[in-house]
Amino acid sequence: MIIFGKKSTHLLTEHLFGVKCQSCGKEEIYMHIFSKYVHIYWIPTVPFKTIEISKCSFCKQELEEKQMPANYKTAASQIKSKTSPPKWQFIGIILITTLPLIGYFNSNSTKRNERLLIESPVAGDIYEYKKGKDYSSIKVGNVTTDSVFVYYNEISTNKMSYASKIAGYSKDSSGLSKQALTKMHEDGIIFKVIRK
Ligand SMILES: [Zn+2]
Repeated sequence: MIIFGKKSTHLLTEHLFGVKCQSCGKEEIYMHIFSKYVHIYWIPTVPFKTIEISKCSFCKQELEEKQMPANYKTAASQIKSKTSPPKWQFIGIILITTLPLIGYFNSNSTKRNERLLIESPVAGDIYEYKKGKDYSSIKVGNVTTDSVFVYYNEISTNKMSYASKIAGYSKDSSGLSKQALTKMHEDGIIFKVIRK
C-alpha cells in the first residue's frame, strides 16, 4: 500500500491596504497564500494548487477564495502572482524520476566489476549460474593460464537467491576455458560472482 496525502505550506502573507473588511469595515485584511502539495510516504512529491485565505485581524473573519468579495479576489490574485511553489515540494518527483536511473548505472557497474573478476579468477570464487530452469553454483579450484578448474554444485534450486546457499560441490573438478566463462557471464548464464 502506498501512503499518500495532501499537505499545505505557507508562502506569503500581505496586508491589503485600502481594502475594508466586509464584516467590520476596518482596513485590517491580511491575505495568506498557501501551496498545497501531494506527499507520498511523507515525502513532498508535487505541488498541485495555490490557495488563498483572507483574515481580518480585527474581527477575525476568515474567507476562502470562493467566499471572497470581488475586491478581495483581485488583491489575492495579485499577491498570488508573486509566489511560486517552493522547490522542495518537487523532491518526490525528482526521486521518482532519478532513482531508476541510479539503479541502472549501479547494475551496469556491478556487471563491469564482475567481468573483471571473471577474467582473473581466483581459487575459491563462486559463480552463481542458471542451470536450465533452476539455479546453481560453480566453485573455482585451480587456475592455469588458460583454464579454470571448477567444482560444480550438485544441488540446484528454483530460487535465484539460493543458487549458492545450499552447496554440495562435486569431488572432481572439470576444466573450463577462461573464454567460456567470460561468455557465460556475457550471456547472463553466470549472473553473480562472489569473491570472499
Ligand atoms: Zn473585520
